[in-house]
Amino acid sequence: MRKKLIAGNWKMHLTPNEARSLVAALRRDIDPDAAQLAADREILIAPPAIDLPTAAQALAGSSIALGAQNMHFEDQGAFTGEISPLMLKSLGVRYVIIGHSERRHRFHEDEDSINRKVRAALKHDLTPILCVGETAKQRDAGDTLAVVMGQLDGGFLGIDLPQVDRIILAYEPVWAIGTGRTATPEHARAVHGAIRGAITDRFSHQASQALRVLYGGSVTPENVDALLSKPDIDGALVGSASLKAESFARIIRARIAS
Ligand code: PEP
Repeated sequence: MRKKLIAGNWKMHLTPNEARSLVAALRRDIDPDAAQLAADREILIAPPAIDLPTAAQALAGSSIALGAQNMHFEDQGAFTGEISPLMLKSLGVRYVIIGHSERRHRFHEDEDSINRKVRAALKHDLTPILCVGETAKQRDAGDTLAVVMGQLDGGFLGIDLPQVDRIILAYEPVWAIGTGRTATPEHARAVHGAIRGAITDRFSHQASQALRVLYGGSVTPENVDALLSKPDIDGALVGSASLKAESFARIIRARIAS
């Protein structure tokens, strides 16, 4: 049974003080039901790197896990402006988003560095959340699956069978991110099913059944129930709606198909 994961990606929003307030508000809402929620879902927030120490403090004693939005693949070195897996670990970070479409498209991250980051995360016992997804142009050209499979193969290069289910995938169609144009549950389900099929072909049926595939792209309190009721959708990666305690708490409480 794959446990759902509801993850909030704050992107470049909120100062440390604002981060403290948001975590406190979220905890006021979620903590009373933490044990019940933990039965079938995990919760994660991924604040900007500068907010991580404050968020870690504010999360002490909570069941909400801490994630980062990016990292370098080396442990240390002359990489100005970068943050290493060891630095993240020292703050209690457990998850790291890798290959988000904004990093791929705005910061020109290539498959090689994304793959190195996935492998570095696993080496340091961080759970990578590898993002894949097609642009509107690629979708319109009928290339969705070719693009997603290419990104899957790039990210999984050199990954061994026992490591497969330590990776979480996030299918995030680029045209749905921050646009209010959510993929239909049917579209998301079809791509998730194809991803699972590819993992079966490349690794094993068991690995594909254990691997979690999240959906991301304009997830809101209004559409989350329909998305998470699809058996192949193992959770949500949420951008804007994770910046307000009320909307993120509602998403966390999504109705989940048993
Ligand atoms: C994201 O940042 O991964 C995302 C899906 O953003 P939004 O929910 O705002 O579309």
